[in-house]
Amino acid sequence: MKLRKFKYYEPQGLEEALSLLDRFGHVAAILAGGTDLVPLMKQKTVQAKHLINIKHLTELDFIRGDSMLEIGALTTIRGIEKSDFLQKKCPLLRDTAGRIGYVQIRNVGTIGGNICNASPAADFAPALMVLDATVEIASVDGKKSASINSFFLNPGETILDKNEMITRFWIPRTDEGTRCIFRKVPSGNSSGLAIASVAVLSSVDKVSGVVREARIAVGSMAPTPIRCFKTEKLLVGEKISDEILNIASQKIVEETKPISDIRGSREYRIHLIKVMTKDALMDIYWRNLS
Ligand SMILES: Cc1cc2nc3c(=O)[nH]c(=O)nc-3n(C[C@H](O)[C@H](O)[C@H](O)COP(=O)(O)OP(=O)(O)OC[C@H]3O[C@@H](n4cnc5c(N)ncnc54)[C@H](O)[C@@H]3O)c2cc1C
Repeated sequence: MKLRKFKYYEPQGLEEALSLLDRFGHVAAILAGGTDLVPLMKQKTVQAKHLINIKHLTELDFIRGDSMLEIGALTTIRGIEKSDFLQKKCPLLRDTAGRIGYVQIRNVGTIGGNICNASPAADFAPALMVLDATVEIASVDGKKSASINSFFLNPGETILDKNEMITRFWIPRTDEGTRCIFRKVPSGNSSGLAIASVAVLSSVDKVSGVVREARIAVGSMAPTPIRCFKTEKLLVGEKISDEILNIASQKIVEETKPISDIRGSREYRIHLIKVMTKDALMDIYWRNLS
């Protein structure tokens, strides 16, 4: 499939990129790794007259921080997967990165592209949601921030204005004793996109077995990735048991809107999300007690 004609830009710094976005944003597309964008341009789903390749903005490729982790939008999935720093500070992101596509995709795909593509199946989304990440958004007017939990509007649609881009993610440090898990069942086709996925962050009192904190976010279970706030509320203060896990997994189904598509049926997704969430919560419970 041929690409339509477009004007191509390679800004050498953030200021130049933002100025281009300001001039052409309404008919432009940002190119990071291109693993989502280029196929969409070939299918003519995205028709950009101006293509702004941000790959040279090396100032947006970093992983650092202490009490507040910072990850640049241009950090590759592979960079996150191989980060020893994240293994210590935030293994959830490292584990999630390792489950995305295959190594060629992870070498060029970026965390910013994964989130801005706003696919319901974007694997970093549930992980960043349970981590309560904040997104830094830049434009010629300056910088602002938004919670990742309010970032997604519809499939392919986010709160970003046409002249805005993501520059970094802030991730607060989790409390001691808090554990995180990402579970995903990938489709059998070459993309490996999730039929369903879930990220769980929880802490359980070692002595009583009572849930102190629970955060749950799911992918491929609604038009956007979503946090399951009602299920979380239901779990906090309860002792982990078969009964409470069954109630919680039923609540998740009520909070989501799974559909049937080429990757899986609605019924299969419901089955998967119940099993994966219960399993993740049980896993965290046992790891907390041991
Ligand atoms: C074979 C294959 C397998 C895949 N498997 C998976 C998988 O298992 N899990 C998964 O989640 N994804 C998967 N993907 C999708 C894709 O690889 C990821 O979403 C990747 O992280 C996208 O990053 P990118 O840098 O390539 O984004 P790009 O394609 O460059 O951009 C994606 C979108 O985000 C916008 N954008 C990019 N960066 C910014 C920014 N900083 N600010 C504002 N807008 C921006 C672009 O304009 C575009 O609309 C797969 C893709 C392929 C082709």
